Amino acid sequence: MTLVRSRYLLLSGQTYLDPGGKETRFAYSARQAAFIAMSPATASALASGRVAELDAAETERLSGLKALVPAAEDELAAVLAAYRSGSDEPSGRGFTIMPTSYCNMACDYCGQEHVKSPVNQARVDRIAARVEAAFADPATERVNVTWFGGEPLLALRVIRELSARFTAASAATGKPYTARMATNGSLLTARLLAELHHEWKLMAVDITIDGPEATHDQRRIKRNGIGSFHRTVAVLGEVVRDQLAPRLNIGIRVNVDTGNQDTIADLLTDLTCFGLASPQVELHLMPVHSWGNDVSAVELEARRYAKQEMEWIRLAQPLGLTIKLLPSATKRTTCQATTVYGEIIDSAGQIYSCSEHPLVPGARDTGIVARVTDLAGSAARPRGAFDDWYDQVGDGKQQCGRCPLLPVCGGSCPKLWREDHLPCPSMKFNWDDRVDLAAQRLGYRPAGTG
Ligand code: SF4
Ligand code: SF4
Repeated sequence: MTLVRSRYLLLSGQTYLDPGGKETRFAYSARQAAFIAMSPATASALASGRVAELDAAETERLSGLKALVPAAEDELAAVLAAYRSGSDEPSGRGFTIMPTSYCNMACDYCGQEHVKSPVNQARVDRIAARVEAAFADPATERVNVTWFGGEPLLALRVIRELSARFTAASAATGKPYTARMATNGSLLTARLLAELHHEWKLMAVDITIDGPEATHDQRRIKRNGIGSFHRTVAVLGEVVRDQLAPRLNIGIRVNVDTGNQDTIADLLTDLTCFGLASPQVELHLMPVHSWGNDVSAVELEARRYAKQEMEWIRLAQPLGLTIKLLPSATKRTTCQATTVYGEIIDSAGQIYSCSEHPLVPGARDTGIVARVTDLAGSAARPRGAFDDWYDQVGDGKQQCGRCPLLPVCGGSCPKLWREDHLPCPSMKFNWDDRVDLAAQRLGYRPAGTG
C-alpha cells in the first residue's frame, strides 16, 4: 500500500535540541491530536513527500499516528464520516438546561436578553422527566447536563431539585451522570461549590473573569452595582487551596476586546496571587465575538488578537497558570448544534439546537426545534439549523473543508460561519508559536539559541 503524508499533518519548520543536544523536529497529527517528535531526516522526507525513504519502524509509527495515510484515502471524507458517526451516536446524551433566563449582570458586550419569569413546577417536572427518560433509554450509556443561563445559580432551588432526580436516575440505571456549569461566579461560595461537586456531580465549572478587579467590576457590572471580582476569585482560590472539590475542573474564561486588552497581563498576576496557578484551573482567553449583536467597535481582528494572545500565554507559563497550547483530543461532534443527541432546554421547556438561540431576540422564536411536551420519552430532538454542517463542509465551498485543523476544531461554530463572522480559534493564527512553546515545555530549545 502506498502511503503519503496526511493533509492533516502540521509540520513545524523549526529545529530543536533536546536536553542532550540531539536535533529534533516536531509535527502535529490533527487526525490523532498527537504531538510528534521526529528526526530532521524524517521531517525532511515528510516535507518533500519522499516518504518511501522512511524505514519500516518509522513508517509504522507515523501511520499509527495517521501522519501517513493510504494514498487512495479521501481524508476529508474520512474525517467527515467520523464526525457524522460521532454526531449520530446515541450513547452520550447531552442536555443544556437553563433553569432561569435571568441574569444578575448586564455586561455591555452580551447579546443576550434576560427576562425574569417565575419558576413553574410543572415545567420543571417535564424537564426532569425528559432527562430521566434518556437515562432509561437502552441506547444511553451516560448523561451530561450543562447548567446554563442567564445566571443558573439564580435558580439554585431548581438545580438542586433536578440534580437530585438526575443522580437518582443515574443510581437506578447504573449509568454515569456528570454536570458542568457556566456561571458568572458572583453567587458562588466555597461551600456551595463543594456541595455541587460532591452531591450533585458537578465536574466542570466555567466562570468569566474579564480583567483585574477594576476592569472586571466595570465590564461585568451587577444590576445592583456591586463588583464581584474579589469575592469570585477568592472563592475559587479557597476551593483550590483547601481542595474542597478535588476533581472539579475550573475554567476561567476571559473575554478580550479593545476595552480590556491592556489589562490582561495584570489579570494573570492577580489570578496567580489568588492561588489559581493550579492544574485544576485552566484559563481560556477568548476574543469577544458577536452573539448577533454588533460588537465591531470593540472586536479585535483575529490575527492581531492571536499575536497578542501569545504574549499573554508566554507571561502565564512561568507564573504556573494553565493554558492549553495544542488540542489533546479529536472532536466527536462540533457542538450541541451538530448532534440531535444534544439539546438546550430553556426555563419554559422550549428545546433549541444552538445555545445562542434561546436568549437572543428573534432566534428565541425561530430557533425552537420542539417543546419538551412535544417529544415522546427520550426521543432525540428534531434537526435544527446546523445539523447539516458536515454536508456544508463536504461540498468544498466551506473553508473548514480545506483546513488542516478540522479534526480537532470541527469548524468551531457553524452559526458564526453562517453569519459571516470568522469563528476560527486563535490557534489557527498562532500555531507555530504554540508549537514552539509546547516543545519548550517538553524541555527542548530552538537550535541556534546557544
Ligand atoms: S452553532 Fe455555535 S453558538 Fe450554536 S451551539 Fe454550536 S458553537 Fe454554540
Ligand atoms: S473554524 Fe477555522 S480553524 Fe476551525 S476547521 Fe474551520 S477554518 Fe479551520
